[in-house]
Amino acid sequence: MYHTKAYSAASATSPLASTKIQRRNPTEHDVQIEILFCGVCHSDVHQVRNEWSSIMPTVYPIVPGHEIVGRVTRIGAAVAKYQPGDLAAVGCMVDSDGNCPQCKAGLEQFCPNMILTFNSPDKHLGGVTYGGYSETIVVDERFVLRVPSHLNLAGAAPLLCAGITTYSPMRCWGVTKGRKVGVVGLGGLGHMGVKFAHAFGAHVVVFTTSPGKKDDALRLGAHEVVVSRDANAMQKHTGSFDFILDAVSAHHDINAYINLLRPDGTITIVGAPEKPLAVSAFSLLMGRRNLSGSLIGGIAETQEMLDFCGKHNITADVELIPIQKVNEAYERLLKADVKYRFSIDMASLKSE
Ligand SMILES: [Zn+2]
Ligand SMILES: [Zn+2]
Repeated sequence: MYHTKAYSAASATSPLASTKIQRRNPTEHDVQIEILFCGVCHSDVHQVRNEWSSIMPTVYPIVPGHEIVGRVTRIGAAVAKYQPGDLAAVGCMVDSDGNCPQCKAGLEQFCPNMILTFNSPDKHLGGVTYGGYSETIVVDERFVLRVPSHLNLAGAAPLLCAGITTYSPMRCWGVTKGRKVGVVGLGGLGHMGVKFAHAFGAHVVVFTTSPGKKDDALRLGAHEVVVSRDANAMQKHTGSFDFILDAVSAHHDINAYINLLRPDGTITIVGAPEKPLAVSAFSLLMGRRNLSGSLIGGIAETQEMLDFCGKHNITADVELIPIQKVNEAYERLLKADVKYRFSIDMASLKSE
């Protein structure tokens, strides 16, 4: 074991603060990564504040962070895919059993024994796993990803959660050239959805409650922007979408969007509103429409997404912050005061 610097929260009401945590020395199949950038995901805030206590109660202290990009510093004897000096990334998962039907299908995110990057049981050291708000992390090479070296690394970090969360359902539901695709909500997830849908060649329509986001939506790759409170503008799109990505985490009327789908069209939820959404059966019946959900993506698909981003030069739009500003960033994130993701420059942790 060794010690590494990190930022952790001691309770649901404590700010994140500088600390030291233990990491295992790399075993045979492990890769040790010096973390260069870590994105700030909304689920970091939820879990630091124990807001998902009914599904996954937070164990304190918690070190969040699952949008990790860094450089390999050490490898285990059996590691074949990485060398010290390589760029590498880690997303929301660090382990799974590897032999259940989901793992065999490349859907590790649905493995019953999947281990999340933070706040999951740590089979090596006991306690729970610690995430990316730290100097280094040690991860089994099966869960380490390659990062195209020409990408902006601060902007590449959010690809590991926000990126794959929006890429995976679009691939699953066949978003491609000529399809009409809606993206509801232009935040951390939504802005990535727009970039991917555009890159896939779709006709992209952004739905937003803020007219002020129109120019930005067009800049990010939208072809049209609809202010969702404008009933007439919504009406014009009735029955016309092949696919809609619903990236809203606040309460909203999903039927307004289901009604915009063409027959056999699909709406996929990737945001996580706290309370159940009311769904009109009629909206689904009329046109045999599909309502689905999606959660990140498997490891192979995450690599495919990173390679796609390398080819199309796609990264998240980020505001780079030092780790000392992370508590402030959480407050701003809750007010949607970020375009469109915070990325922590982990070099700032060295001075702690
Ligand atoms: Zn996330
Ligand atoms: Zn499994």
